[in-house]
Amino acid sequence: MLSRLHQWSQHVWARLPAVLPSSCALCGMSGEHAICNACRARYFQRRAQSCCQCAMPLAIDSPVALRCGACLHQPPAFDATFAAVDYEAPVDQLVLALKFGSRLALAPTFARLMRDSLLLAAPQPALPGILLPVPLGAARLSQRGFNQALEIARPLSRALGIKLEPRLALRLRDTSAQATLHPEQRRKNIRNAFMISHEYVDRLHGQHVGVVDDVMTTGETLNELAATLKRFGAARVTNFVFARTLLK
Ligand SMILES: [Zn+2]
Ligand SMILES: [Zn+2]
Repeated sequence: MLSRLHQWSQHVWARLPAVLPSSCALCGMSGEHAICNACRARYFQRRAQSCCQCAMPLAIDSPVALRCGACLHQPPAFDATFAAVDYEAPVDQLVLALKFGSRLALAPTFARLMRDSLLLAAPQPALPGILLPVPLGAARLSQRGFNQALEIARPLSRALGIKLEPRLALRLRDTSAQATLHPEQRRKNIRNAFMISHEYVDRLHGQHVGVVDDVMTTGETLNELAATLKRFGAARVTNFVFARTLLK
């Protein structure tokens, strides 16, 4: 009970900056936006052209969608990825503030920036029919009190007019932090981590599913989730992430 109450109050406090005059999460200037206009203009320029499948920057600029060598060599289970920004300073601090500092007021701002960068990259994007935040395992969810992917997916679903289905997939177990592991360990660590909820098993066939996360690091988690969705009949999976790590 106590921990529930604690989670609830944490939730309420974290939401307060959304309704009270706030300060910019990057430069500290007071104003009504979670990120001020000057910082938006400075840090949220259009990303360099990136691989249409995994969102890693490409060395060339081309008017047509291209895939990177890694995706051509070993195609991931997902079909496309949109990222709003590169995961680097000082934007990485925003991701950490949302995930570990419980600054949930940033989530709608992330969603807006994701929508804007998506429309900039593809004015008429082929949008998914349903939106799924990457699920957290039960232990991590109760420890953190919220799922940052769901917090972003909720306003993104409204901004894009896509139905949100947060219970479509379950995370069967929490996994160690992927970034600290060797590539082979990462694959093992995440394998079979997800399951499709019973009530969706018959409803996934032929669906285009949009998967939402705060940051894409190695891509293994998104790859495993996309593979699970496709095993249950999904036709296409598009990732929508706020930030993309540039190292593989
Ligand atoms: Zn600012
Ligand atoms: Zn790629």
